[in-house]
Amino acid sequence: MAEKQCLGNFPLADEPNYEGMLQCMRCGFCLPTCPTYVLTGRERSSPRGRVALAKAVADDQIDFTGALKEESFFCLDCRACSTSCPSGVHAGQVMEACRNQANEAFPLTGAVRKFREFVLQRMLPSPDLLETSMLPARLYQKLGIQWLIRHSHILKLGPDWMEKAEGMMPELHPPLRPQLPEVIPAEGEQRGRVAFFLGCIMTLMYPEVSRQTVKVLTSQGFEVITPKEQKCCGAPHLNEGDRETTRSLARYNLDLFMELEVDAIVTDCAGCGAALKEYEELLEESGEHDKLELFHKRIKDISEFLGEQGLRTESLKSVEKVVTYHEPCHLCHAQGISKQPRDLIKAIPGIDFRELNEASWCCGSAATFSLKYTGESQQILDRKLENIQATGAELLVTANPGCHLQLAWGLKQAGMPQEVVHITELLGMATG
Ligand code: SF4
Ligand code: SF4
Repeated sequence: MAEKQCLGNFPLADEPNYEGMLQCMRCGFCLPTCPTYVLTGRERSSPRGRVALAKAVADDQIDFTGALKEESFFCLDCRACSTSCPSGVHAGQVMEACRNQANEAFPLTGAVRKFREFVLQRMLPSPDLLETSMLPARLYQKLGIQWLIRHSHILKLGPDWMEKAEGMMPELHPPLRPQLPEVIPAEGEQRGRVAFFLGCIMTLMYPEVSRQTVKVLTSQGFEVITPKEQKCCGAPHLNEGDRETTRSLARYNLDLFMELEVDAIVTDCAGCGAALKEYEELLEESGEHDKLELFHKRIKDISEFLGEQGLRTESLKSVEKVVTYHEPCHLCHAQGISKQPRDLIKAIPGIDFRELNEASWCCGSAATFSLKYTGESQQILDRKLENIQATGAELLVTANPGCHLQLAWGLKQAGMPQEVVHITELLGMATG
C-alpha cells in the first residue's frame, strides 16, 4: 500500500483536518470565549489565529515553526471555541493534532524523551504498573513525610509546578479497580445492564467517587459490569501529542467493551468520556464504521445516562445544602452535556441550587497546562474562584477529576470554605 503523503509542511501524515480549517471565516465570534486570547490579547493565541497558523503550514506558506508548537501546547483544549463557532471549526482538535506534529518536528532527546516514553507508552497503558507507581506517594502521605515537607516549606525553593503538584495531591487510598467486583447486581427491579469505564485518575485519586457512581447506578436499577482489564482511555496521550499510543489504546478498549452485552458504557470522568467519543474519528481508517458508531452511541457520561433513563427520585433523601456547579470543558463543550447535570442536582430534595456565573469557563486545569503554565493557570482559576465566592454555595459540584484537583487546591489556597464534590457523590448522599 502506498504511504500516505504529508499535507503541506506538516512533518507527519497525521495532520489536522484540512476541510475543518477551511471553514474558518475569520468572524471572531470565538475570541471572547477563548481563555488564552482573553489573557494575552494575542491573535496567535486565539482559536482564529491558531487555525490560521496551522492552515498556513498545510498550504506550504510557512514551516512548522516553534511558534505553532508553543501555541499547540498553550491551547487549553477547552473547546469553548467549538461551542461558539458558527462554522463548526474545532480549533482545540486542530491544536491537539499539531501537538503530535510538534513532537515529530522538535523531538525531545535524552532522559526527558526516555521518561516521556516510559510514562506514555509503558506506565499509562498498564493498569498494574500505574497502580504500583502510586505506592510511594501513598507511603509518603501515610508515614508523615508529606506533613514534614509541607511544614518545612522546602518546595518553595524549587520550580512553581513542583509545589503546586504536591499541594494538589488528595488524600490517597488504594486504587478501586482491583477491589470492584466484575459484576454488581442491580437493586430492586432491574432496568438495564451497563459497563463501567473507570478511568485512571478516578481509580487512583478519587476511588470514592467511582464507588458512589456504582452505588448510584445499582440503586437506580442497573447491573454494573466493570472489566478489570480495561486500560487508559488515551486522553493523556492526546493531550501530549502521542496519537499512535492513543490509537492502540482505543483499539484495545473498543474490542474489550464491544464484547460485552450491555446497554451503555458509562463513565464518571468527563475527560475519559470525551476521549472515548473520539475513537470513531481516531480509528476511522480501520473501516469498522458500524462497530465504531455503535461504540460511540454506547458511551455515556453518568449525567447523560441518568438524564436519558430518568432519575428515580421516590427514595431519595433530602440533602440540605447550598450547591453550585462548575461545568467541565470536556463535558459541556466537548460532549454538549450541560443541562443534564443541573437537572440531576435540582432533582435532589432539599438542595438550594445557585447558578454559577461563567460556569462553563475553564478552571485552568486542562491536564498538564496547570503545571506547565502555573501563572496563566492561576489567573484563569482566580476568575473562577471569584464567581464561586459570589454564589455563597457550600458545595461546588463538578464531574471531572482534573477540575476537581485544580478547584479543591485553589479553594484551599484562597482560604475559601467550599468543598468540591463529584455529582455522583452528591447523588450518593441522597441515596443513603
Ligand atoms: S474559528 Fe469559528 S468563530 Fe472563530 S473566527 Fe473562525 S469561523 Fe469565526
Ligand atoms: S480550545 Fe480553548 S484555549 Fe484552545 S483555542 Fe479553543 S477556546 Fe482557546
